[in-house]
Amino acid sequence: MSSDSSSSNKPVSLVTGGAGFLGSHLSDRLLAEGHRVIAVDNLLTGSEANIAHLAGNSDFDFIKHDVTKYIDIAGDVDFVFHFASPASPMDYLELPIQTLKVGSLGTHNALGLAKAKGAKFLIASTSEVYGDPLVHPQTEDYWGNVNPIGPRGVYDEAKRFSEAITFAYNRSHGVDTKVVRIFNTYGPRMRLRDGRVVPAFIGQALEGEPLTVFGDGSQTRSFCFVRDLIDGIFRLSQSSSHGPVNIGNPKEMTILQFAEKILSLIDTDSKIEYRPLPEDDPKVRQPDISLARELLGWEPIVEVDEGLAETIDYFRKD
Ligand code: NAD
Ligand code: UDP
Repeated sequence: MSSDSSSSNKPVSLVTGGAGFLGSHLSDRLLAEGHRVIAVDNLLTGSEANIAHLAGNSDFDFIKHDVTKYIDIAGDVDFVFHFASPASPMDYLELPIQTLKVGSLGTHNALGLAKAKGAKFLIASTSEVYGDPLVHPQTEDYWGNVNPIGPRGVYDEAKRFSEAITFAYNRSHGVDTKVVRIFNTYGPRMRLRDGRVVPAFIGQALEGEPLTVFGDGSQTRSFCFVRDLIDGIFRLSQSSSHGPVNIGNPKEMTILQFAEKILSLIDTDSKIEYRPLPEDDPKVRQPDISLARELLGWEPIVEVDEGLAETIDYFRKD
């Protein structure tokens, strides 16, 4: 695989999962910050449509590759951002082995690349490392409550392993590593049918179909708009912190309240319909972002109505 980046003085960032929802927004931000970007993605859950607008950009390269296989890159790399992984519960329940492999073998390869190139490394971890949390809101020093053999365990344990190997590469090989724990994020370029609650409810409301609330809808989530999230991640990448750092929006709501919000924002005949709650579905989730405020001077600024309006607009055009 070759993408020789040695001809430019710009910092070179490699983004695994670069054709995904978050990886494509991160690539946009890095390019805007004057980086060269190499996106590596096997298009398992991502799409070339997410990076089509970058096709003519001479600072951007796309390499179609499965990062569970050795990642061979010619030339300098200054930063490795490891974002490759199925992320929606529907995806990782359908792709359990691929999820475990990209979290383990893929993270090992991405760390090996960072070590060989003397590059910094940042891994996209998740609030799922806290499982069905017994501490609320979740602080970074909470070790979590995960069922390792439940259906969600394939994702949660892959991410927990990826944090462990990332810290081992820092301690044993001196790689400058960073761990971000991402909480529920939404925005343009999510797949309409990826099963996550934001595209699910918006898609259903736009089609006049019932909004499928799982369980009694009393479980909570806290939704962060993608622009805010990427800003927090970029700040972490530029900081001296190794993390883990929570990045998310602490504004918490029940899923039923969220369904009602969507019904208030979209002119629709849709009603709410209740469906069984998936196994091990976390009952509560809310990030404590004190550390991000203190270390990165970061907090989210996009109000949920504003972020949702932009997202609904995107799905209307889709
Ligand atoms: P996404 O599915 O849109 O993007 C993931 C990308 O990784 C896809 O483009 C997919 O094709 C690619 N990929 C998967 N396996 C691969 C492999 N073996 N080799 C190369 N590419 C591979 O999901 P997303 O929401 O953009 O999530 C990106 C990252 O952020 C994931 O690591 C996810 O766990 C993490 N995360 C996301 C959220 C969120 O709310 N979006 C929350 C917590 C953590
Ligand atoms: N959910 C729901 N209806 C849907 C999709 C999801 O009620 O059609 C619920 C899901 O059970 C969970 C919450 O919404 O409690 C968030 O789900 P999502 O898949 O977006 O992400 P999670 O936070 O569970 O990883």
